[in-house]
Amino acid sequence: MLGLMQDWPLTVDKIIDHARNWHGDREVVTRSVEGPIVRTTYAAIHERAKRLSNALKAWGIEPGDRVATLAWNSANHMETWYGIMGIGAVCHTLNPRLFPEQLGWIINHAEDRVVFTDLTFLPLLEAVLPHCPTVERVVVLTDAAHLPQTKIPSLQDYESVLAGQSADCAWGGFDENTACGLCYTSGTTGNPKGVLYSHRSNFLHTFMAMTATVMGATPSEVILPVVPMFHANAWGIAFAGPASGTKLVMPGARMDGAALYELIEGEGVTFSAAVPTVWQGLFAHMKANDLRFSTLKRVLIGGSACPESLIRGFQQDFGVEVTHAWGMTETSPIGTIGHLPPEIAGLPYDEQMKWRTKQGVPPLGVELALKDEAGQPVAHDGETFGRLMVRGPIVAAGYFKSDASILDDQGFFDTGDIATVDPQGFMQITDRAKDVIKSGGEWISSIEIENIAVGHPKVELAAVIGAPHAKWDERPVLIIKLKPGETLNKAEHLDHLRGRIAKWWMPDDVVQAEDIPLGATGKIDKKLLRERMKDYRLPESA
Ligand code: AMP
Repeated sequence: MLGLMQDWPLTVDKIIDHARNWHGDREVVTRSVEGPIVRTTYAAIHERAKRLSNALKAWGIEPGDRVATLAWNSANHMETWYGIMGIGAVCHTLNPRLFPEQLGWIINHAEDRVVFTDLTFLPLLEAVLPHCPTVERVVVLTDAAHLPQTKIPSLQDYESVLAGQSADCAWGGFDENTACGLCYTSGTTGNPKGVLYSHRSNFLHTFMAMTATVMGATPSEVILPVVPMFHANAWGIAFAGPASGTKLVMPGARMDGAALYELIEGEGVTFSAAVPTVWQGLFAHMKANDLRFSTLKRVLIGGSACPESLIRGFQQDFGVEVTHAWGMTETSPIGTIGHLPPEIAGLPYDEQMKWRTKQGVPPLGVELALKDEAGQPVAHDGETFGRLMVRGPIVAAGYFKSDASILDDQGFFDTGDIATVDPQGFMQITDRAKDVIKSGGEWISSIEIENIAVGHPKVELAAVIGAPHAKWDERPVLIIKLKPGETLNKAEHLDHLRGRIAKWWMPDDVVQAEDIPLGATGKIDKKLLRERMKDYRLPESA
């Protein structure tokens, strides 16, 4: 027997309709690429997104067509999302930090027909677009006065496009499983892979993100999403913000410490989300200028492992609560979140740290399993490493234009991460499967060593890779980038680690580097690092 409740397709146009109807005056504030801070509201975003939909329809964009954005976090960028998605077209977010060849490959694979971009990226597009025959037009998110002369044909300014259209446009009316967004993962092996979100998956992820067990946004909060809209949907904030009627503050192109601090204080930001490196920049600025936060209460940190030094620094120096989360493009992206249950929150702060540095438990809607190489369950003892597997309505079932199955026989997606789960249910990422160091048949977690190494006040970045070893197969080598002007010798680095990790995990060598390469999503690029270190030999086996 079926239930007798209404069929109300979960399509994301309803999110911005809701924001317009019930939180229409709530502000969205942007540091514009042109310079000034600009203010708008959910009502205005809704109206302009409708105009944008009409422009797309006038250009012959059909449901299912891909329309790309290459843009910073801004109210304009939000309008393009809703305008594209509302008519059933697919919003393809492009990551400007990719190399031009990768970007060209992705645009061609997606067959993008239109690209909305910020002024910042016109030089990049000038290089890429001659190789992208499917792109028919480029719209710059600016006004006519700021539109420069470029070699890009059919370039238009956004404001003129909107001005020419009516705000009367029907949205939705299609199946909730209709494709809605497309985002390619910056896979370190093989070609990039397109994750194709549906309206339903984004809508369910929004419900999940709004709960207190995840972000818990309310109209009295002010959220600063530093996480870019071009990488894993800004962790869902461009949906959860309007869905909750929460003021959003968009950082535009400037994510340096001074710019973020000014926005946080100037706009009364209470909650923010970003990868660890962003916070390190903000910290350095605040320490150098002896600054304090007056409104910021909570931050969500993920994307790569959050070092203990950052969690402590936020809490002890600035009174800000850090929640550590794990996720990936394929999980929309939130997969687990580290809110402490009362049994752990009641412990002394130092004892809580064991859990605060872990990535936490899945919210409702994400099923998580830890499996060994044979697909068998791994003990939740907090020590045994296993492959992290997930399934649920916000997890990818396949990649765009690929027939290959990415699920195991129980429908789980292999995240490519290696993790442990402890008896309290807290998951901890120990490595990407391809970065794990295998020493004497046992696994060493490079992430755990890195997180302790980067906690030394003189260290800016730390990376651990495996180096070939005659007896043990591989041994860990610590690669360090020091903060400007600092010096530290090998023995001092090792002293900092001693007692904090198992003896047999102690790196065999410490190498100081001018630079540790970061990939397009701000994570340490271990593939490139290993390539740079390919002629390196451990002192013993040299
Ligand atoms: P992406 O799809 O580019 O967002 O990358 C997802 C990957 O980032 C995951 O599979 C993890 O390897 C890594 N990652 C994300 N969040 C965390 C975290 N909190 N700690 C450690 N690694 C993380």
